[in-house]
Amino acid sequence: MPSPSHQHVDVAIVGGGVIGLSIAWELAQRNLCVSVLDQGPMGKAASWAGAGILPPPPGARADHPLDALARRSRELHPMWARRLIELTGIDNGYHVCGGLYLAQTPGEMASLIANRANWKDEGLQVQEWSKEQIIAKEPHLVSAVEAGRVKKAFWMAEEAQLRNPHHLQALEAACQCSNVQLRPHAPVTHLERSGRQWSLRTDQDHLSADKVCLAAGAWTALLTKSVGFEPAVVPVRGQMRLYRTDSSILSSILNEGPRYLVPRKDGLILAGSTEEDAGFNNFTTSEGLQSLQAFSEKWLPSLTPERCIRSWAGLRPGTVDGFPYMGPVPEREGLFVAAGHFRNGLYLSTGSAELMADLITNQIPRIQVTPFQIQRGLHLDPES
Ligand SMILES: Cc1cc2nc3c(=O)[nH]c(=O)nc-3n(C[C@H](O)[C@H](O)[C@H](O)COP(=O)(O)OP(=O)(O)OC[C@H]3O[C@@H](n4cnc5c(N)ncnc54)[C@H](O)[C@@H]3O)c2cc1C
Repeated sequence: MPSPSHQHVDVAIVGGGVIGLSIAWELAQRNLCVSVLDQGPMGKAASWAGAGILPPPPGARADHPLDALARRSRELHPMWARRLIELTGIDNGYHVCGGLYLAQTPGEMASLIANRANWKDEGLQVQEWSKEQIIAKEPHLVSAVEAGRVKKAFWMAEEAQLRNPHHLQALEAACQCSNVQLRPHAPVTHLERSGRQWSLRTDQDHLSADKVCLAAGAWTALLTKSVGFEPAVVPVRGQMRLYRTDSSILSSILNEGPRYLVPRKDGLILAGSTEEDAGFNNFTTSEGLQSLQAFSEKWLPSLTPERCIRSWAGLRPGTVDGFPYMGPVPEREGLFVAAGHFRNGLYLSTGSAELMADLITNQIPRIQVTPFQIQRGLHLDPES
């Protein structure tokens, strides 16, 4: 007989970020008994820290599996938003707002022109915009445009966003409605195969499961050491600033290189982001925040430091080749990984959840998984 503090589930998911919670909800809808364990509160790490940008889906001619995953994810997002609000009453803020892509420097112009060629090859809708078109759409950019800061501009009508903190709340509530056991503040400290099951130890109790999915974001490689393999997932810090404005001074997402301004419907504007190698240190720095401040004021002069109501940093789960790790771990029956979504975890979460649920339930996934396999760049320790 298991002790009262020892439970058995079909699938245990380690990590309650957007990836872990999305997989859990998808599996619960397939009638599996699922538990999600997080070392902190649910959904408060990278998934909370992000901006929620959902880039346009790659065009039909883009045939790499990552393109297929992105297309499927964008197809699922509006459906998930509808189902989440029906089930939980929480609006995750999904809406198509369009994205402006601006170049100020010759380097940015060159890369934007190269991107446009790729986007067109893929069959993606992209328009070159004149200064007049920019001002007509976004009147508050007038001073930046007249100061000659825009050397090239493209408009992507299909760019969308979701309000990620609300999305995470909705996912958590949807999991609860679907009988997923949520275990916040339960750091998984040890993982081992015992017989035909996996045993997971936390600092309070332990749990056994037929299958385990590791969705621990930037921390995934720390966790897998105990079972003898280390996927090359590394933390990449990103800093953010949040401004409150009295009125809506921006309606579409403004992108310049890796920087962006994301307007929320209630007048809040997010400015992001940096890309830094700072280990597991998720503090902001004065240098990072100053660079975001300069970026924000350059485009919208009313985003003064006094308008900034909050700043934070998050750790993106990066991988060496830019592809997430998704699939079964070789030679570790019943163990799966879903981590390493870097700058696109919110975007790719819906398609990733469907793909992982297919793999975990032995269905044939609609997307080819080879580029996401754990085997690439993996060190397997035969002793474990
Ligand atoms: C500044 C910034 C901006 C971003 N902007 C965007 C964007 O606009 N669009 C987009 O698509 N993506 C964006 N991203 C990326 C996106 O946020 C991530 O790719 C995504 O959140 C990764 O989700 P995850 O669930 O894998 O990781 P996380 O959200 O980090 O979740 C992992 C969870 O695992 C838990 N955990 C770790 N170790 C253990 C353990 N031992 N036991 C139990 N729990 C554990 C952690 O506590 C954490 O809650 C951004 C990220 C940042 C930082």
